[in-house]
Amino acid sequence: MSEKFDVIVVGAGPAGYVAAIRCAQLGFNTACVDKWEDNDGNPSLGGTCLNVGCIPSKALLDSSEKVEQAQHEFESHGISIGNVRVDVPKMIARKNDIVGNLTKGVAGLFKANKVTSLHGHGKLLKDKQVEVTSKEGTTVYSADNVILACGSEPIDIPVAAVDNKLIVDNAGALEIDDVPKKLGVIGAGVIGLELGSVWNRLGSEVTILEAMDTFLAPVDKQLAREAQRTFTKGQGLDIKLGAKVTGSKASKKSVKVTYDFKGEEHTETFDKLIVAVGRKANTKDIASDDVGLKLDDRGRIDVDGQLRTNIDGVYAIGDAVKGPMLAHKGSEEGVAVAEIIAGQKPYINHDTVPWVIYTHPEIAWVGLNEEQAKEQGLNYKTGFFPFAANGRSLAMNEKGGRVKMIADADTDRVLGVHILGPNASELISEAVLAMEYSASTEDIARTIHAHPTLSEAMHEAALSVDGRALHKVN
Ligand code: FAD
Ligand code: NAD
Repeated sequence: MSEKFDVIVVGAGPAGYVAAIRCAQLGFNTACVDKWEDNDGNPSLGGTCLNVGCIPSKALLDSSEKVEQAQHEFESHGISIGNVRVDVPKMIARKNDIVGNLTKGVAGLFKANKVTSLHGHGKLLKDKQVEVTSKEGTTVYSADNVILACGSEPIDIPVAAVDNKLIVDNAGALEIDDVPKKLGVIGAGVIGLELGSVWNRLGSEVTILEAMDTFLAPVDKQLAREAQRTFTKGQGLDIKLGAKVTGSKASKKSVKVTYDFKGEEHTETFDKLIVAVGRKANTKDIASDDVGLKLDDRGRIDVDGQLRTNIDGVYAIGDAVKGPMLAHKGSEEGVAVAEIIAGQKPYINHDTVPWVIYTHPEIAWVGLNEEQAKEQGLNYKTGFFPFAANGRSLAMNEKGGRVKMIADADTDRVLGVHILGPNASELISEAVLAMEYSASTEDIARTIHAHPTLSEAMHEAALSVDGRALHKVN
């Protein structure tokens, strides 16, 4: 007889580990299987997000931002510190410490919540059995319910095959321990811009090759244009839109990349090349063929609105299913699926999932952008407020960016909020909450915001929708 659990979760990323904790809170005897190992071969929980994603990238973004400030901003505050020296291995070690603390933290949470942690590759077999294979061998467990939270992995492109030495994916890009003189990045998406910014601040000459002609297609056009200007003219990132990489050749110390740009073939040699062209669901070997687990046309596990797969009692969440590949979206699904199994009726509002790009300034948004409102034929109105007119922002030396608000012209209901500016990642929460409560811009306009704060830009943007911003000419 195989050991039986109420719930087995496969994958301990932010979707899976949260699902496992919530299942345990609801009284289910829960196990969570994960195969991730750190560089020393030890099990490491937390998935892409904690090990090679959200957290390590933000740790390096923070370190590199401090370097940038020390080199270029302190002087204007009247602080002179002489030459700034950067110890990249120490920076990477700090990042690794943060990752270690957090991954161990998940193990601690499992222990405290009595979630059984199983290390190895989990595979769904028939009758809700899960086979777990590790160096120690193979064991089969069974469960009343199985949650598949197997996450995602980087997309490979044959013209730049990752070797994680000179041509690296996100994991390799977070381990570079010497500033490359010339860094190439394929893809001007979220990872390309965040990691491109890190190395640009640390002194690399960064070229980003983006296949599409549009910069940051999902972002409101007005903000994307301003962000592009800031990143290129202001910060020196060389972003080439419409650049199609046709080949790459790694030698001992450099990699030669050929690409088609404006109808001409170009060649450039980089000391490192980061490939960041998107991610795909990691569904390889997640279920045996006789289970008949249905995938969609993009290889993601097919789920209905209740996160149910086509197999009774088997659910799927996070990057492995449809929707944005974001940690907080996965975690919300993790909570919801546990509550669904417990017979509750949770609801996830997919229209209010916030997005953040942690460049400087940050870009954050929720809901519809102006182009989408137009495409949907909505009767909408907009308002905006520039950070250049916000006292706190100026006190912080932050002069660029804006808050833009889109509202229904008839009902005044907030349809979307877009921020390019300091701490946009934190400011967006007010907009998410407002939309969650179906607020109008009048509601935000009548809400008292502390002075002096960046949040006053949100207040003023709401006032501006009605042509009555106080600190700018409407
Ligand atoms: P994952 O985190 O990918 O976890 C899946 C887990 O399942 C892994 O631990 C894997 O080992 C395990 N697994 C898979 N298959 C099996 C199997 N068969 N058996 C056992 N275990 C298995 N999102 C944000 O919201 N904010 C950010 O700032 C952000 N920054 C990012 C930066 C980078 C560089 C990257 C790459 C991603 C970033 N993301 C960010 C995206 C975020 O990391 C993902 O959306 C999130 O990790 C998805 O969570 P998940 O649990 O679905 O999958
Ligand atoms: P992405 O989809 O954000 O960007 C990929 C970019 O690469 C796109 O602009 C695309 O047009 C371009 N591209 C695709 N093929 C190309 C090619 N052959 N040559 C040149 N350009 C090409 O993907 P990503 O940056 O790899 O990140 C993956 C996902 O991880 C994100 O979509 C997001 O869901 C998640 N993520 C989130 C955050 C965050 O929340 N701050 C940070 C990093 C990653």
